[in-house]
Amino acid sequence: MSEKVLAAVRTGPSRTEIRDYPMPEIPADAALLKMEVAGICGTDVKLYKAPPSAEPVIMGHETIGVIAKAGTEFVRRKGFKEGDLVFVEHYVMCGRCEWCHLGQYRHCENTDWRNNPDAIRYGYTSARKSPHLWGGFAQYVYLPWNAVLHRVPQGMTPELAGLVTPMANGVEWSLFDGGVGYDSAVLIQGPGQQGLSQTVVCRQAGASLIIVTGTTKDAARLRVAKELGADFTIDVQKEDPLARIREITAGRGVDVVLDCTAGAGTIPILLGIEALKRKGGTMVVQGELKEFPNFPLERMTTKFVTLKSARGHSYKACELALAQISSGKAVLTKVTTHRFGLKDVDLAIKSVGGQGVPDVIHASLLPWK
Ligand SMILES: [Zn+2]
Ligand SMILES: [Zn+2]
Repeated sequence: MSEKVLAAVRTGPSRTEIRDYPMPEIPADAALLKMEVAGICGTDVKLYKAPPSAEPVIMGHETIGVIAKAGTEFVRRKGFKEGDLVFVEHYVMCGRCEWCHLGQYRHCENTDWRNNPDAIRYGYTSARKSPHLWGGFAQYVYLPWNAVLHRVPQGMTPELAGLVTPMANGVEWSLFDGGVGYDSAVLIQGPGQQGLSQTVVCRQAGASLIIVTGTTKDAARLRVAKELGADFTIDVQKEDPLARIREITAGRGVDVVLDCTAGAGTIPILLGIEALKRKGGTMVVQGELKEFPNFPLERMTTKFVTLKSARGHSYKACELALAQISSGKAVLTKVTTHRFGLKDVDLAIKSVGGQGVPDVIHASLLPWK
């Protein structure tokens, strides 16, 4: 094993440097992950452009790798050993709170970087914090006793396993939060990796109508949406989406709206409220706009709309995502479109954000390339 670990470190807004870190000591209750694939998502695009702190950070929070070294206590407690291919959740839990006992590590204070300055979360925690390897854009990642691991099923490639995060979000947001199921009519706004994952999950869950919206530059992604199970796609720059949704649903509207747009401001929320059925629809949103002038609260309450917040995924959702990918029922190689090496992290993130390499849906970062 080499003495140095190479990592791509975010050192400022839209700035990356390749740095090296010492190979960490692995105590009995910890392990070392040799990286295979780090997925890149819309959150990376956001955090790269506008970092939440000035700290140097090894980004990469969708982490697939092989356990290269595991302490005896780690093996005994966690049931994983050297050579196992695993998906690591980016939430590093406390193991004591209610959320942890529920498998909802996403809500644990130990990983809440917004409110807890000592929080540990892969892809977010400062690389100054020992032993430094807290992100997937590196050759190795440190796994303390409280890392949350999932076994990657036999035969699944690391690149496909790299879709666990968007697929787990798909399960969490559409099925658990949105309540999508048999005969649901669903509007999915945004055909990126997240919207496409929702499409696959909603189809598998028995939705009878799936409409996916996008813009003109999303033409290739909208085609993939169709191939993955969307019944209709709408280019919102060419057609009036609300009129089209009403036409498709014979005026009824949809049961569930899932907002998977990036940087589209208030428009998807306003469209969602109008596109929902007359009473009792559900909308799952992930926007983090500081302000929403003229929010149509009256329209929302009188339509009896339930508004929910998309916040990552639970343990269960990750397991179901792995099962979905493993089933081979959807041709997910249509989603894993691009690969980048460690030196191209900057280009990779920008490409996922729609600048750089065109038509990227899901980018896999291969830290050894
Ligand atoms: Zn992500
Ligand atoms: Zn906890």
